[in-house]
Amino acid sequence: MTAFATPPETRESSIESIDPRDGAVVGSVPIHDEAAVDAAVARARTNQVEWGATTLSGRSTHLRRVRAGIARRSKELAEVIAAETGKPDFDAMAEVLSCCVLLTQVIRRAPKVLADERVSSFPLYVKRAEIRYEPYGVIGVISPWNYPAFVPVQALSSALAAGNTAVLKPSELTPLTGLLLGEIINEAGIPLVEVVTGDGATGAALSASAVDKIAFTGSPATAKRILATAAEHLTPTVMELGGKDAMILCDDADVERAARTAVAGCFANAGQTCIAVERVLVTPANHAAFREAAVRAGSQLVVGPERNSDVGAITQPAQIDVIERRIEDAVSEGAAVVLGGRRRDDLGQSFFEPTIVDNVRPTMALARDETFGPVLSIIPVADVEESVRVANDCEYGLAGSVFGRDRARVEDVVRQFSTGAVSVNDALVTALLPSLPFGGVRSSGFGRLHGDAGIREFAVPKAVAGDRLPRLPGLTSLMFGKVRPTPAQVSRLLGLLWGRSPRRE
Ligand code: NAD
Repeated sequence: MTAFATPPETRESSIESIDPRDGAVVGSVPIHDEAAVDAAVARARTNQVEWGATTLSGRSTHLRRVRAGIARRSKELAEVIAAETGKPDFDAMAEVLSCCVLLTQVIRRAPKVLADERVSSFPLYVKRAEIRYEPYGVIGVISPWNYPAFVPVQALSSALAAGNTAVLKPSELTPLTGLLLGEIINEAGIPLVEVVTGDGATGAALSASAVDKIAFTGSPATAKRILATAAEHLTPTVMELGGKDAMILCDDADVERAARTAVAGCFANAGQTCIAVERVLVTPANHAAFREAAVRAGSQLVVGPERNSDVGAITQPAQIDVIERRIEDAVSEGAAVVLGGRRRDDLGQSFFEPTIVDNVRPTMALARDETFGPVLSIIPVADVEESVRVANDCEYGLAGSVFGRDRARVEDVVRQFSTGAVSVNDALVTALLPSLPFGGVRSSGFGRLHGDAGIREFAVPKAVAGDRLPRLPGLTSLMFGKVRPTPAQVSRLLGLLWGRSPRRE
């Protein structure tokens, strides 16, 4: 294997990573061009040969060393995450913890999920049928800034366990986190991840490179560009995109619990979470009580640059204008701000108050488009049937939640909810249970991370058929021979086997 390295600097230009809390420069990284990206992919390909040949248990043992490295350097990693995103310390460390939890799941499950699998040889019982889970080769991982360590680890943990190496392109807003993550992973002894830094052009170069699969997490607009490039090369992709998650309150919901959950589910990470609760659908039975409880819970939150605040910075300062405009438009169309609603330039460069807007209508942009900021919309509807209709009438379908005491009624909503995940009497937790698959429907993307499905996302299932009775002649060799049945005989057989609905299969 070649020595662990990130690509040489192209020296064309560089990008500064800025602390959104005060505008301080955290560091500077090179912008890698097409040639540098291609060189990184070539190195990753060379390194994959030995890693791909490592046994499943050998890979798990190695990933334990990677996890130990993250645990040992957790403070350093959390510091960089906080500096580049403006998150409070607790949120940054919670992200590092989540990386280790996810790795633990992969370490435990991958040897079972990726083991050679004997399957039924129906209807050719003289054959032996087997599935082998083989690596793709090199995975291109393109990540956003909101969870700059956890999001890449979502793909990297499974990609590496399946025997691939990877080239990571972190967001231009959080490149130092990506570089440190790559360094920690490679420090475990094998150069598994190359890190290329830069903006969208570097990401575009990675999409157009010779990678064998692309794992993208980010906005639907960027996903479309990547897919157009991937289509030219027939590169497979997994796409984890935006969300506009809804919480549905049944008439008998525990309103206090729902309100506290909605406030945490919306304002955590200053609303910059793909599965943030952005919409709450309330019925006349719980509207007023929910609003009051949510305002009470939300007004206790501390916003600001303090390292122990509840709501930290808006990482992309320009996003504050979008948030402000959305709220203004909703108010001009009849909605009412019942908590917050203002930018807080007095606190630093990019802070916005936790905001609750009541009487939002489903047609408003605030109810339809991803806000990606600390704004919770309360949408009154006539009944739960309308809640389900409004929740599903949305471009996105990432996750959602339902609150209620009547289990049958709640189950009914769960079944009708058109999303990749549903939490019952809670929010966000489907993403925190690493055995569950993570991913969306519609514009929220396709493919899955986490869980067994997430591990298999990075493996090619190879079908292998052999003989159970090697002395018999091969089945295909009989195809043109004398023993071939006539179409009439096959038709009679079909009638006998499946012509009547059998009671049991
Ligand atoms: P983004 O789409 O702007 O950027 C994501 C990454 O793509 C960055 O690394 C960027 O440099 C790169 N990129 C930009 N243009 C590119 C191009 N033409 N080709 C290749 N790469 C390119 O997204 P963002 O602003 O960084 O992140 C916010 C979005 O991510 C939100 O929509 C959020 O919901 C979504 N997100 C989704 C999940 C999920 O798991 N579903 C998780 C986190 C964030």
